[in-house]
Amino acid sequence: MMTLTFEQGPIRPPSEANSLLIRLTRNCPWNRCAFCNAYKGTTFSVRTVEDIKKDIDTIAEMCRLIGQVSRAGEMPSELYQANEYQVYHIADWLAHGGKTVFLQDGNSILMKTADLIEILEYLKKKLPSVERITSYARSSSLIRKSVDELAQLKEAGISRLHVGLESGCDEVLKFMDKGVTAEQHIDAGKRVKKAGISLSEYVLLGLGGRKWAQEHPFETARVLNAINPDYIRLRTLAIVENTPLYTKLQQGEWEEQPDEETVKEEKILIENLGGIKSRLLSDHSMNLLGEINGRLPEDKPAMLKVIDHFLALPQAEKENFILGKRWGLYNRLNDLQDPERHGRVENTLNKLKSQGLLEATIANLKYQMVRV
Ligand code: SF4
Repeated sequence: MMTLTFEQGPIRPPSEANSLLIRLTRNCPWNRCAFCNAYKGTTFSVRTVEDIKKDIDTIAEMCRLIGQVSRAGEMPSELYQANEYQVYHIADWLAHGGKTVFLQDGNSILMKTADLIEILEYLKKKLPSVERITSYARSSSLIRKSVDELAQLKEAGISRLHVGLESGCDEVLKFMDKGVTAEQHIDAGKRVKKAGISLSEYVLLGLGGRKWAQEHPFETARVLNAINPDYIRLRTLAIVENTPLYTKLQQGEWEEQPDEETVKEEKILIENLGGIKSRLLSDHSMNLLGEINGRLPEDKPAMLKVIDHFLALPQAEKENFILGKRWGLYNRLNDLQDPERHGRVENTLNKLKSQGLLEATIANLKYQMVRV
């Protein structure tokens, strides 16, 4: 009996946690961004339409077999031969309605439009419960597709694209070797919007370091205002070993922003967002102020209020919150009011400070968070 298995990649956005993951391409075709180690040491390749269709057939068959699992939990014998992780993945996906699919890996939109359409149509035919199909897309690939091609992809089933904007500041984009300019980001984002595809833009707080602490958020707001994406998703930089940025840091070519400065940068970003109707989300545990979420423009004052609350805290409370958040004891600023957690953090904070280990510990906690 043949083992039922299909190919999957390692990464998906947090918002796609309940989506079925189908791999169209392997790894990242660029793989040069100075801060990123997601696909380091790997080679990019495009899978054949034939192989992807075979995977979709396998998934459809696994869905059919899972549907036959009896109330008593008896499974068809074929499922015992299947990849165990993938049986759970598909069962979980079906339990969530079997509605959403994420196409992996880092930039599958660069495939030929005709091939993508063939895959999307096949996917919808074989998995008729699917309502939303999303993918990562690099701006440099999006500007190689016309609005008409993107509209065809929308028609074939692409509902949302996730784009790593990171920054709207050309100096930062160049220094980080993002391989795209601010104007190209705008061009790409506008094309996606004109095609009627939902657009998520990811911003990396802290990426400007001390040098571009003002320009990075200000220019990023300018680019986002020009695009008017459906979602702005905030991420916070954590420097990972074996990346070019780590080397630049060691060699003194770039200086990291401490957390408090990154919050000031976040304030500049939000203050300068205007004339857009986007949903802004802090949907990653790396963000210090996870409660900054809302719709623009109406929730902007409330989001700035959270930032001002943090910035107005006495220094000792700021340090307590930063350590507690990075440690995973706090989620929100109001958690500072919990005497038990506050006391635990304070004790540790005092010990770390007396040993001169506070900064290194916070950096290490951030590093651990991006490794999981
Ligand atoms: S394009 Fe994305 S996945 Fe590729 S190296 Fe840059 S940040 Fe990493």
